[in-house]
Amino acid sequence: MSLGDSDNEMRILVVEDDKDLNRQLASALRDEQYSVDVAFDGEEGHFLGDTEPYDVIVLDLGLPELDGVTVLKRWRADGRMTPVLILTARDAWSEKVAGFDAGADDYVTKPFRIEEVLARIRALIRRASGHAASELSCGGVVLDTRAGRVSVDGAPVTLTAHEFKVISYLMHHRDEVVSRTELTEHIYEQDFDRDSNTIEVFVGRLRRKLPKGLIQTVRGLGYRLSEPESESNKT
Ligand code: CA
Repeated sequence: MSLGDSDNEMRILVVEDDKDLNRQLASALRDEQYSVDVAFDGEEGHFLGDTEPYDVIVLDLGLPELDGVTVLKRWRADGRMTPVLILTARDAWSEKVAGFDAGADDYVTKPFRIEEVLARIRALIRRASGHAASELSCGGVVLDTRAGRVSVDGAPVTLTAHEFKVISYLMHHRDEVVSRTELTEHIYEQDFDRDSNTIEVFVGRLRRKLPKGLIQTVRGLGYRLSEPESESNKT
């Protein structure tokens, strides 16, 4: 499988009780290579957001069992800082205010175009990882988060969807040690039979496709992506 013009890498939770809308959002996000979990009421959504590591959560405010503002307030009160994009009803300015006061990072008003939701999610991920541009680069490797492409010294590299998710996560956490467990959790969806050994396989393949020394093994801890120490100086 080669990666075409898809987008991203990370785990997203969609909490929306409208089944059609939930399905549309989940499918559009999966098309962009995100791993997606879904919830159809506030309790389920709160539980998932509380127990699973997501990179972004899309949260409808009008939800059964537990309303979205309450869900969000509980996450924030418990120290969960995941970026949250709320979905609000048209013209309900008071909902937006309540949502922001509860700790929302951004909002989209219904009805929305899916492209706008996707763009706002990309922006939230970039902001969360401290990068303002849609391109991340390190040691001659450039990752275009918008186009879902990776190149080395300007030459495109063909990656599988899983390889892309791994490199993308590492690029977003440049110079940090990322454990295999963390990588596994961010790459597979909830119900997938997780096997952290496969991460080694993906990293091995990436190392053959990318500059030597870019992905370092930190013994007993995981991996770290940083500028390879070498005589060449590409920046
Ligand atoms: Ca709703």
